[in-house]
Amino acid sequence: MTDMTDRKDPLDARIDAIGPEEIRKALQILSEKIDSRAAAYLNTCVHCGLCADSCHYYLSNGEIESVPAYKLNLLLSAFKRYFTFLGRHAPSLGGAKDLDREKLREWIDSLYGRCSLCGRCTINCSVGIDISRLIRIGRSVLASIDLVPPDLQATVNTALEKGNNMGIPRTEWLETVQWLEEELQQEVRNAAARLPIDQKNARYLYTVNPREPKFFPLSLVATAKIFFAARENWTLASDFYDVTNYGLFSGDDAASGLISSRLLETMKRLQAETLVLGECGHGFNSNRWEAPEWLASKQDIPTISILQVIADYIHQGKIKLDPTRNRKTVTLHDPCNLVRMGGVIEEQRFILKHAVANFVEMYPNREKNFCCGGGGGQLSMSRYASRRLKAGGIKAEQIKKTGARIVVAPCHNCIDQLSELNKEYKLGVEIKTLSEIVAAALVI
Ligand code: SF4
Ligand code: SF4
Repeated sequence: MTDMTDRKDPLDARIDAIGPEEIRKALQILSEKIDSRAAAYLNTCVHCGLCADSCHYYLSNGEIESVPAYKLNLLLSAFKRYFTFLGRHAPSLGGAKDLDREKLREWIDSLYGRCSLCGRCTINCSVGIDISRLIRIGRSVLASIDLVPPDLQATVNTALEKGNNMGIPRTEWLETVQWLEEELQQEVRNAAARLPIDQKNARYLYTVNPREPKFFPLSLVATAKIFFAARENWTLASDFYDVTNYGLFSGDDAASGLISSRLLETMKRLQAETLVLGECGHGFNSNRWEAPEWLASKQDIPTISILQVIADYIHQGKIKLDPTRNRKTVTLHDPCNLVRMGGVIEEQRFILKHAVANFVEMYPNREKNFCCGGGGGQLSMSRYASRRLKAGGIKAEQIKKTGARIVVAPCHNCIDQLSELNKEYKLGVEIKTLSEIVAAALVI
C-alpha cells in the first residue's frame, strides 16, 4: 500500500528535507553572486511599482507575487538579513527576513513559477535595475541546493548526459539527417543537394534545437534549402549540435558552461569558421552573450544567428526571393532572448520585407515586445502550465489585433508556446519559423 509520503510532490519533499547545512550553502552562493553591481541594484529599488505593468504575469493575474519588484524583494530581504549590519542585529527594523523553508517555497513559486526571465521589467525599471538578472541569481541560489523544479532539472540533466536536451540517440539523428537530405533533393530537384554532416573546414557550423529533428524536421529542410540556394559551404555535426541551453533557465552556471563549451569543442573538432545558431532565442543569448561569463574565458569564436546569415544572403544577392509566394498576412513575434536580450532586431524585419507580400507589426514590438510566456524554462515546468497559458493571453491579444494569418517566430520554444496559445485562445493562425517563410519564397 502507498502511504501519503510516497505521493508527496518531489519538490515539496525536497524543501521539507532542507536543513541548516543547505541554508548555509544557499547563503554562500547568494553572497558570491551578489557582487557590488548586484548589491547596488538590490538597494536601488524606489518601490515606484512601474515594473508591475511591464510583466505579463502581473498583467494577467494581478497578484502581488507576480510584480517584478516583489520578486526582487525576496532576494533583498535575505541579503539584508545576512549581509548587512542592521539586518544581522535588528532584522525587524529594515525588512530583513530569515531564509527558511517557507521562504524558499516562496522563492521557488515566484522566481521559477512567475517569471520567464524575459527582461521586459528591466527595460521598464525607472532606475535601471537589471531585475531579470537578479531573478536568475535567485534561481542560481535555489539550483545550488537542488531546488530546481524537477522537470526543468530533468531537461538540463538530459542535455548533460545525452548531449542534447531531447536525448536523441546519435543513430536516430544521423538517420533523420539522411532522410531529410532525400526530402531536400526532391524539393529542389537536384540529387547533389546535401545536408552535410561532420564536414571539416566548413564556413558555417549550423546548430539546431533538437525539437526540430524530433517534431519539426521540415524546418531543418527549409534552412538546408536556403544554404543550398546560397551555395554555402556549411555543415551539421554528428554530436553536440544542440543550440539550446536550459542551464540558463535553471540558474546552474556550471551546467550552462558545460553545455555551451560543447558547441565550442565541436567548432574546434570540425575547424569551422563561424558558429551559426539556429532559430532559438535562448540558445542565441546563451551561446553568443552568456557563455564567456559561464566559461570565465574570452570567447573568440565568431558566433552569429541564422537570421544574420539569411539577411546577409539577401543583401549580397546570394538568394532571390519572390514575396508573392507568401501572400497571406504575416506578423512577427520577437523572442525576448533573441531581441531584447540578444540585440538581433532588424534582420528579421529586413528578411520578411523581402519574403512576404503583406507584413504587419504587432504592438508593442522589437525590444518592447511582450514575452509569449514560453521562455525561462516555463515549457518544461508542468506545475506552472496554467499560469503560463494565462500569462500568454497578452501575446494572444497582440496577435489577434494584427489580423495576420501567419505568425513568424524565430525560436522553437516560442513556437511551442504560440502553438498552445493558438489552441487556447482560438487564434486560427499558422505559426512558422523564418526559414520556412524564406524557403517558400526562394527562387531557385
Ligand atoms: S523578467 Fe519578465 S516575467 Fe520575469 S519579472 Fe520581469 S517582466 Fe516578469
Ligand atoms: S520599476 Fe524598478 S525601482 Fe520601480 S518598483 Fe520596479 S524594480 Fe523598483
